[in-house]
Amino acid sequence: MVLNLENVGKMKINEFLGSTLECQCGKPHSVNIDKIIVENGAVNKVPGILQEMGRKNALVVADSHTFEVAGKKVVELLTASNIKHKVYVYQSEGHLVPDEQAVGKLVLQVEKDTDVIVTVGSGSLNDLVKFVSWLIKVPSLVVATAPSMDGYASDTSALIIDNLKTSVTSDYPKIIIGDVDILKQAPMTMILAGLGDIIGKYSALNDWLISEIVNDEYHCSVTAKISSDAIEKCVTNIEGIKKREDKAIKDLMEGLVRTGIAMSFVGNSRPASGCEHHISHFWEMAFLFAGKEALLHGTKVGMSSVITAKLYELLPETKVDFDKAVSVARAFDEKAWREKVIAMYGKAAPGILKLSEKDGRNSIEKRIARISKIKENYDAIMNIAKAAPSAARVRALMEEAGAPVRPKEVGIDDATALNGVIMAKEVRPRYSMLNLLSDLAILEELAKKASDYVK
Ligand SMILES: [Zn+2]
Ligand SMILES: [Zn+2]
Repeated sequence: MVLNLENVGKMKINEFLGSTLECQCGKPHSVNIDKIIVENGAVNKVPGILQEMGRKNALVVADSHTFEVAGKKVVELLTASNIKHKVYVYQSEGHLVPDEQAVGKLVLQVEKDTDVIVTVGSGSLNDLVKFVSWLIKVPSLVVATAPSMDGYASDTSALIIDNLKTSVTSDYPKIIIGDVDILKQAPMTMILAGLGDIIGKYSALNDWLISEIVNDEYHCSVTAKISSDAIEKCVTNIEGIKKREDKAIKDLMEGLVRTGIAMSFVGNSRPASGCEHHISHFWEMAFLFAGKEALLHGTKVGMSSVITAKLYELLPETKVDFDKAVSVARAFDEKAWREKVIAMYGKAAPGILKLSEKDGRNSIEKRIARISKIKENYDAIMNIAKAAPSAARVRALMEEAGAPVRPKEVGIDDATALNGVIMAKEVRPRYSMLNLLSDLAILEELAKKASDYVK
């Protein structure tokens, strides 16, 4: 069977696993996950699955919160099935920061005979275990405690290294367990964060299309459809999500896992992450350096998605002067740029400056070449922008769900919100709407308007 735009929407989640799938785009797709179980009572299957895998010495990893929510249950089940296990519970005040220290703590818990890691948690815990699992070549199984983010089915981890939010290679969990009975009891902020992460896919998918045009980047519309189907399924049942209905929570969890699979299919985060994520990363680092308690990933992504929707909406309404864009490109001042990065990124600046030397993002020639590519394809780019959901629509979805829309509501001040929009393109060398606006020398103007929209 060859994956195409017709059949991909009908695929059951487990049909994506196991073998390599041929695709209409010409690139074979695969994901190295053995099984995904999203249903009521799924946690009870953990011992049987470990036995099936032939695993005998488990390291159960949780934090003090997730241990209460599901870790205890997992330990009970393993004990009842006589599966040898050791338990490690991260003790941290507030949110667990997935940094060098947290990695080190986990590595120290691994025993010589540990042959499987059982994660009980979501976001950061999942990132930490996926990375350590890859490092020590011991497979992992995750019991998800919240449908809060799309990192379950991905083979990269977001860690904080040298103060910079960094994507590192890691290993998929072999098994993903989403017990709907557990997931639906997650704090509403986490459930809404999952929805925010899903809503972020609107601009992510459009950024991908734009980069295909401007940079001839590889694009797979079949994989993109996996993500857009996930969005539609979730946004059409916000009421159910709010009421924690089984079906809505299952669809949300499956949607998050599916977008993870989509990333794996193409080998990068394009189907799930674009400039809305970059803005969120900027805000996250600003909080970290200010010593402020971190916000949930999806909470920020949901809010930044309203801003990116506004940017998509503003572009067709803005008069673009291509000659001016070229002269601004020619006048690029590397020294001033470096100073700005240092001022805005603080402790993360050295990492960004190093990255920029590697990827040549400030090449004036390349920028001028992109400007002419944008000019040649302006109609196609306008069509993408016009087809994007309006800012009012994205905002209404968030408001309907009861999720925060204005950065201020969660403690992101106006200046940080705006700086994020202007500077986020430096977080990752990945072309997005923010880069396009910067190439056209209208980023600052539109960033101001877009962040004013949610002031
Ligand atoms: Zn494809
Ligand atoms: Zn995300």
